[in-house]
Amino acid sequence: MDPDREVLDAERLDAALLELEDEIHWDAIPMLELAERYERQARLLGDDMLVARAQLSQANMRMRSGDVAEAAQRIWQIHQWAIDHDARRLTARTHLIWSAIHRHLGDAAQSLEHALLSVELLDDTATAHMQIWHRAKLADALAFAGSFETARERFDQAERLTTDLDRPFLRLYVLNNYAYSEHAAGNYEHAEQVAQRLRALADTHSFELDATVLDTIGAIELGNGRYAEAEQTMLQCIEKYSLIRRDDADAMPEYLLNLARAQRGLGAYERAQRSLDESRRLCADRELGHFMVQVYQEQAELHAARGEFAEAYEAHKAFFAAYIALRSRQREAQARTRQAMFETAEARQEAERFREQARRDPLTGLRNRRFIDEQLPRLIGTDPDLTVALVDLDHFKRINDQLSHDVGDQVLVQVAKLLEAELAAVSPDGFVARMGGEEFLMVLPGCPTPRAGRELDRIRRAVGAHNWAGITHGLPVTISIGVACVSESEKLTQPGLLSTADRNLYAAKHGGRDRVVCGIPSPDRARPYRDRASAA
Ligand code: GH3
Ligand code: MG
Ligand code: MG
Repeated sequence: MDPDREVLDAERLDAALLELEDEIHWDAIPMLELAERYERQARLLGDDMLVARAQLSQANMRMRSGDVAEAAQRIWQIHQWAIDHDARRLTARTHLIWSAIHRHLGDAAQSLEHALLSVELLDDTATAHMQIWHRAKLADALAFAGSFETARERFDQAERLTTDLDRPFLRLYVLNNYAYSEHAAGNYEHAEQVAQRLRALADTHSFELDATVLDTIGAIELGNGRYAEAEQTMLQCIEKYSLIRRDDADAMPEYLLNLARAQRGLGAYERAQRSLDESRRLCADRELGHFMVQVYQEQAELHAARGEFAEAYEAHKAFFAAYIALRSRQREAQARTRQAMFETAEARQEAERFREQARRDPLTGLRNRRFIDEQLPRLIGTDPDLTVALVDLDHFKRINDQLSHDVGDQVLVQVAKLLEAELAAVSPDGFVARMGGEEFLMVLPGCPTPRAGRELDRIRRAVGAHNWAGITHGLPVTISIGVACVSESEKLTQPGLLSTADRNLYAAKHGGRDRVVCGIPSPDRARPYRDRASAA
């Protein structure tokens, strides 16, 4: 059966995803395919949280397989989704991957900041794996940033948690990272101590050390000049790796390179040359430019050890040329990732601007009908003292006809400004929207009648009293207002409330304009103003 057709239920998909999230996986490509399949299944279930989690797993696997730019671009969206939906556990996980991306970019400060957030966000919804691993990764980031003392504290904390939370196997990897960090920083002695604890732990629990851990131990032995042990460790590492027949491209060339270094240290130059030749062959087959650099370097060292200085010099030149080429490729890749991150950030801002624009009226800059439709129902449902007021300009047609459409526009803009300024003084949470034409809606949260009636009447007078001479050359500008309050309404819906306001507006027009009408419309005010206007 096609695995895509087999639909997991939400519970099983959740468990399957947890397995992807909470295990340390070394072979990223098959895991990426699995995560893609999980995403399709989550979509079939219509479960957005599961979709986001499957996407994050994909971004993680992409990063691990070296596609950092792609991972960086995709993670933005997931991160935003997690924040918008208050998905704390997912947000903690996105920060952890951000941290790794910045580390790839060589940005220690950013890497540390995200690692810190990935720990700060841990709460009791976080899994035991996260509690431990996020702290171990924070320790990595601290070491990368040069804060060794704090890094050690965090590694110790992560290690203690593996005992408290009963995850002895994970302790192996905490210690592996700890030892590797110390080694990378040149603290060979301390690295050695940690490596010894690593071996002791494996003995106690009869854990098999996998190739990754053996490689760390071998490198530390090399660093301490213990070449015979390093050779044995690396041979064991290579054997382990060959047995599981995994195929991440650059593991084997690296192991062979460390083996060659150990053998050179022992003075076993022929063995060293054979190991190095094998590593070189794999690098060439797999086009691993970055490892080839190290192969050239080791070749130069090997020639020099044998006293072949002319060859050593040639190999060194090859090393240097490859090194320069590699640096420029790395810079290019980093630039690509930065560009991808920048473009996504820009696209998000653009979308945000568009969202905002789509909710504003272009002439007056006020909110528009769409904004009202999005906000009003919620306000009606939650604020028993909410008041809304429909505002319509009186005899506006005259201004257009006797002056010009352009002057009409200027009047609309000025009325909009007055309404906004006046409302802000009364109701800081309130807002004004342009409903269309020369009609506006004022929304006053927490403002019951009769206070609303008094304030709106003051606003009406302020519009009439404004000095319009500069715009209308003597033609007066006044407004009529129809009010509706949630506390007086029977139907607590947006159409219900607006229809009450509309009937009161009609009453205001009918009563002579330039006035405010509040309260429950009487039956003779049953005819809504807007129907009359469109019929006219
Ligand atoms: P009343 O006091 O009954 O409301 O009379 P009125 O003239 O204000 O109402 P009516 O509905 O008859 O006319 C509204 C006019 O508003 C008609 C339309 O041309 C004009 N109008 C609508 N939108 C705009 C606009 O964006 N700019 C300008 N300048 N005029 C507009
Ligand atoms: Mg009008
Ligand atoms: Mg009108």
